Amino acid sequence: ETNLRMLVRASRLGSRYVVVLAEDHTETHRLEEVRRDFVANISHELKTPIGAVGLLAEALESASDDPDQVRYFAKSLTRESLRLGRLTQDIIELSRLQSADPLTEPSLVDVRSVINSAVERNRVEAEARGIEIVVRGGKHASVVGDADMLAVAVHNLVANAVHYSPDGSRIGIGAAVTDHGIVEIAVTDQGDGISEADRDRIFERFYRVDPARSRRTGGTGLGLAIVKHVVQNHGGDIRLWSQLGSGSTFTIRLPEASTASVPVRGEN
Ligand code: ADP
Repeated sequence: ETNLRMLVRASRLGSRYVVVLAEDHTETHRLEEVRRDFVANISHELKTPIGAVGLLAEALESASDDPDQVRYFAKSLTRESLRLGRLTQDIIELSRLQSADPLTEPSLVDVRSVINSAVERNRVEAEARGIEIVVRGGKHASVVGDADMLAVAVHNLVANAVHYSPDGSRIGIGAAVTDHGIVEIAVTDQGDGISEADRDRIFERFYRVDPARSRRTGGTGLGLAIVKHVVQNHGGDIRLWSQLGSGSTFTIRLPEASTASVPVRGEN
């Protein structure tokens, strides 16, 4: 309301300068709100694993000499501390991405190697559950950006495909370039699919369709929020096709690198 009043006053004054200030104020206000929400969410999310670690440590301390009991508590303790580690890492990643200009040193990134590294990182878990990851399309494509961030984004999509797919199913991943010079990296699974109502919300921080399931797979609820930010920071977008019961396809769309003089990482 304050902003609206400032804008009205500004337009009466006919001063462009004041209008700009008012818009700036709105943006600052919005960012401050986003930051406050994020901190509140983080505190809430951290409480559960921290509480669990405390309780398990206490249980371990007063456990009988029964080795099975001790092993059980120790194993749970490891699981919760791993969860804390992942959560911390994702929180740091996301706050870095939300800062003003995270693409400080853009370079030429080979899309195929980003895909291969994402597949490699998920291979063990997929194989353990009999899930086959098929890489399609051998076309060479490059984009300009941060190779590490793009690797994290594609990894998160593949990890989700593995987590939300049944054992023995198949995941497809591939890149294609459209006639309009857009590189599309698509990850398709044969999992549960996502309802229409949830399709927008799953990109929000800490939103999960099924919190218990996300927890079982060790999810932090930040994976897709990170993907969205990485893609936006690269001037792209992400699209989702899904049908409940049939599976989902997440497509990252990025502008293709136009062979301009972009430094390749490692070269100067
Ligand atoms: P999480 O750590 O919970 O996986 P994400 O931000 O990566 O967090 O995803 C948010 C939610 O979106 C997940 O909890 C899950 O409910 C849903 N989701 C993400 N990817 C898929 C997928 N491939 N198939 C079905 N549901 C998915």
